[in-house]
Amino acid sequence: MDTIQVQFLGASGTVTGSKYLIKAFGKNILIDCGLFQGLKILRLENWKHLPVNAAEIDCVLLTHGHLDHVGYLPCLMKEGFSGKIHCTEPTRDIASIILKDSAKLQEEEADKANQYGYSKHKPAVPLYTLKDAELTLTHFVPEIRDAWHTLSDQIRYRFRYAGHIIGACFIELDLNGKIYVFSGDVGRVNDPLLHNPERPQKADVLFIESTYGDRMHPQDEPMDVFEKIIEDTLSQNGRIIIPSFAVERTQLLIFLLWKMRNAGKIPSIPIYIDSPMADRVMNVFLKYAEWHKLDAQTCEEMFKHIQVVKTMQESMAIVAKNQAGIIIAGSGMATGGRVLNYFAKYLGDPTATILLVGYQAEGTRGRSLLDGEKNIKFFGKIFEVRARIAYLPGLSAHADQQGLLDWVSEISNTPSKIFVVHGEKAASQALSDQLKQRYAWHSEIPELYATHYLA
Ligand SMILES: [Zn+2]
Repeated sequence: MDTIQVQFLGASGTVTGSKYLIKAFGKNILIDCGLFQGLKILRLENWKHLPVNAAEIDCVLLTHGHLDHVGYLPCLMKEGFSGKIHCTEPTRDIASIILKDSAKLQEEEADKANQYGYSKHKPAVPLYTLKDAELTLTHFVPEIRDAWHTLSDQIRYRFRYAGHIIGACFIELDLNGKIYVFSGDVGRVNDPLLHNPERPQKADVLFIESTYGDRMHPQDEPMDVFEKIIEDTLSQNGRIIIPSFAVERTQLLIFLLWKMRNAGKIPSIPIYIDSPMADRVMNVFLKYAEWHKLDAQTCEEMFKHIQVVKTMQESMAIVAKNQAGIIIAGSGMATGGRVLNYFAKYLGDPTATILLVGYQAEGTRGRSLLDGEKNIKFFGKIFEVRARIAYLPGLSAHADQQGLLDWVSEISNTPSKIFVVHGEKAASQALSDQLKQRYAWHSEIPELYATHYLA
């Protein structure tokens, strides 16, 4: 009998760097190709050669367009990969936005480090350039959801709606009749923008994410909490700075702010989206109406009270302008991007609020703030934190522990193998324990770079 080999090249014992290599029936298939983020020890992995020969990988299948699932693709190309990258249409569009932005950011950061001399590397170089990202995009093959796509006589796969960001899917890989399910990132039920995630009905082998495997999202209505934070900050004439992923959570924030304003719950204060990507992501929403709940009119109207900041000059002018308001700027975990310019000016301001809305991976500045650290380092300097730090986990794009347990509830067989991935160790362990308790399923938490052989 042919053995099937699985190698964990990322998101094992951590949330970032998703990459699982499957070797089966003469094909090498990579599921996701994400960048490591957060802890330096992980980020350094992005600069090493992969422990496998990229030229021998036949194709990549992508669950969704987030950086920690697609951000390593240009490196994979540089390592010799020349195959096709399969995903849904909106994932192709989102990945295009994200990869180009990631390349530009890395080029800018290398320039800045060279200019100010704060990198240990002389000269500092980007991990990849815009040109590398553009070349990668020519390998993308957008495909329709739900239909089976054939790779060989024994191998086929399909994408199914996961409700995490626009275009996001879980993947069912059929290896000679055995179904391998890769959850990707699982969304939440009753999300204001996205439909509920679909659920797998069969899984011989299951790879399940565990970002929030050890916790439940609060029951409070996020809009009420958000409103209170805005009210408190405005009462001190302060600014609210929201580091946010350009994809999805930013659209949710704009939608909620629009609803609050329409209901007269917040005053008409300036709201800025300091991201050249925000418009482009909105266009993806307009282009793929069947992937979300917003109608075209809402898409248009919710942007009316928002000022989208495009150029760096405009951005720096807003940083300098001392005026109450709300600013949403990337990156979402404050690992880089324009939000750091706001941090440089407002982290030390006790009237300002830094509002964290998404998952903050360990090792990121967002996580340090959440953990109450008083000194944050960037631009080669230490900044003292005097601003108020607020957290709104209710806006997460990920299912919580209960959501993950519910997501597997329609699987009618007992999977012969379950790998709990994409979580920090405690979160993965907690989900593994719950799978045992609720379903009597035994699962494993694979080590980074481990290889498992399946019959
Ligand atoms: Zn994601």
